[in-house]
Amino acid sequence: EKLFSGFSKTRNNLAVIDELLLYWNLSDTDRVLDELEEALLVSDFGPKITIKIVENLREDILSGNLKSGSEIKEALKRNVLDLLTSKGSKTELQLGFRKPAVIMIVGVNGGGKTTSLGKLAYRLKNEGAKILMAAGDTFRAAASDQLEIWAERTGCEIVVAESDKAKASSVLLQAVKKGKELGFDIVLCDTSGRLHTNYSLMEELISCKKSVAKVVPGAPNEILLVLDGTTGLNMLPQAREFNDVVGVTGLILTKLDGSARGGCVVSVVDELGIPVKFVGVGEGVEDLQPFDAEAFVNAIFM
Ligand code: GDP
Repeated sequence: EKLFSGFSKTRNNLAVIDELLLYWNLSDTDRVLDELEEALLVSDFGPKITIKIVENLREDILSGNLKSGSEIKEALKRNVLDLLTSKGSKTELQLGFRKPAVIMIVGVNGGGKTTSLGKLAYRLKNEGAKILMAAGDTFRAAASDQLEIWAERTGCEIVVAESDKAKASSVLLQAVKKGKELGFDIVLCDTSGRLHTNYSLMEELISCKKSVAKVVPGAPNEILLVLDGTTGLNMLPQAREFNDVVGVTGLILTKLDGSARGGCVVSVVDELGIPVKFVGVGEGVEDLQPFDAEAFVNAIFM
């Protein structure tokens, strides 16, 4: 419901073609596809995907595979669903068999990293996992306090830096060691998010990865990149850089309850070939949902 209401604007943008499709006949094809192209661009699908979808439809219409407006609409939805699922990557968390599993949450400041970590802790704890949080954002002074509030709210334990000068990688190392000694199932690691153009952040993330792997071979099991859905296509260069440097295994798209336009979800999956694992649809503990491609397609098309 939250995804559905969050995307009401995208749905309205895309609904302009519904009436055209209702009275569609073959001679209308160019006009309908032009309108569709515009609606997809306005909805943040980006030029590459927009052209791909429109040209697929044109080919199927002209070859006689699609014979009515409702068939075109169904094909449109199927095209978007295929784009979201064709890479075949798993949308469920892949946590391996060694304990503790380690999940690193990365992304630029303000995207919703700490909040998503808190919501993810709540979800995983409710599924029965024993969760330890690690306050690895040692750069932003308030980040650790904010995570402590989430630890309290979700009833999870937390490891925080012992001094102002502590490095993120040593906080994470300490947390994963504690997680191993005390039998935690999952260690959720927060990280810094100062500007992505600052190379030292990327170096720090690499050293965080190395630290946790020293304790649990194969860790981190997941590196989840948090992207603010309201930034639209601007998220792409950012996502590319994080992926190139640290190797992202899944995406969390946040703020989809706000003014995000749905197409950005499709563009980021297509561009990076990395699955969206969760979506943020609000600021409450329950506002993180596993990504469901079909529900998403139904939320953006009437
Ligand atoms: P960080 O700097 O990446 O750790 O970002 P925060 O977790 O501090 O989040 C930044 C702001 O975005 C906070 O005010 C959060 O409450 C808000 N926020 C995070 N996720 C969502 C979401 O899914 N929906 C909405 N509406 N707000 C969110």
